Parts: sequence; structure tokens; C-alpha cells
Amino acid sequence: MVRYIQSIGRKPEELSHILLTHSHPDHTGGVNHVAKMTHAELIAHGDETRLRRGNRLRLGDIGVSGVLPGIVPILGRSPVVTPVQDGDVLPIGDGVRVVHTPGHTNGSVCFLDESTKTLFSGDTIFSDSKRISRSVAFPGYDAAAYRASLERLAGIDFLAVCGGHGSPLLEGGADVLADLLATRPDLPTWSHFIKSMPRRLRRSLPLTGEDP
Ligand SMILES: [Zn+2]
Ligand SMILES: [Zn+2]
Repeated sequence: MVRYIQSIGRKPEELSHILLTHSHPDHTGGVNHVAKMTHAELIAHGDETRLRRGNRLRLGDIGVSGVLPGIVPILGRSPVVTPVQDGDVLPIGDGVRVVHTPGHTNGSVCFLDESTKTLFSGDTIFSDSKRISRSVAFPGYDAAAYRASLERLAGIDFLAVCGGHGSPLLEGGADVLADLLATRPDLPTWSHFIKSMPRRLRRSLPLTGEDP
């Protein structure tokens, strides 16, 4: 990340915010280190945090706040974060709106860049260049909440999707999601996911999200 910032002729210290869509380690690993190198403020939904050391809110572990008894020491993290909630607009560019989308984890959020209608969706929805797909269950998952969040997202005006895994979908975001929900109402399951693996590997299909 730091090398990328330098490659576009900017300084790491200029990074003002790091937006965390949720606390799973594949989305937060190393964030302490990057925050120190940049002095950026870390942003996450309050439901992904724990109160630690005085009044400072720290990121919960692997998205299961309230499930695990304490911080998992092996992860060596739990940075201090600024909590946000649904509807907050962050002062980044022309405004980045927080959309709380519980389901993948309780405190999962999407960040909507309002001027470009670009949605940074974490693991709530995955993108590849042509399609949107949904997550299977991980620690912290709530199927009913997830279903409701997907329905709500499909009614929000967004065009591009930068999913937590896969390459961005550049156009038609909300319509593509609404179409997915209408044609495949059942949420993806681990059993389908595992059964689809050989075919995915044979055909070099994406390994994240539901079966294409
Ligand atoms: Zn996740
Ligand atoms: Zn992920």
C-alpha cells in the first residue's frame, strides 16, 4: 500500500483515512502497521469494535465481537478505530456515505462514494468484471440480516462495485444485484461452494463468492 502511494507521487503521511468494511483478518491484517506509517485515522462500524484500554474503541477480532471471550493474541492487532454508523458521510473527496449492511458480520458496512456512485462493499458483495456474487457463512454470519442488507443495497443508487474480493464491476451495480436476487433467491452455501471447486479450478473461474 505504501509503495503504491509513493508510485503515484504522493507521500504515505497524506493518507487521511483507512476505511475498514469489517474486521475479518483478510481485510484488516497489517492495518496497525500501515496506520503507523501513514498516521491515517481508522474507520469501522461500532459493531465491529470492543472497548479496550480506557475509553478507546478497538477493532474486534475476526468479526465475532461478543462471541469470542477476548482478544486473540496470535493476531497481534486490535487497532484503535473511530466508530461510524449508517448514514454517516465521511469528509473524503465529495463525501463517502456509510451504509450499514449487517449479515456477513454484524458490523459490516459498505462505503459509497457519492460523486462517482462507486460502492466499496467488503465481503457483503463480491464483484468480478461482469457479475456480483454473495458470501457463504463465516464467523459472525447472520443469514436473515444478510438477506435484508442485500435487498436494501439493491435499492441504493450505485454503478461500480469494488468488492472485497475479485476485480471491480464498473457499470450497472444496483441493477446487477437486483437481478441476482431475483434469479437466485437462495443464499450460497458451503456445500455448493465446495462442490463447485473442481469445476472452478478446471475453468480458471474465480475462487471466491458463489458458483458462477
Ligand atoms: Zn469477511
Ligand atoms: Zn474477505
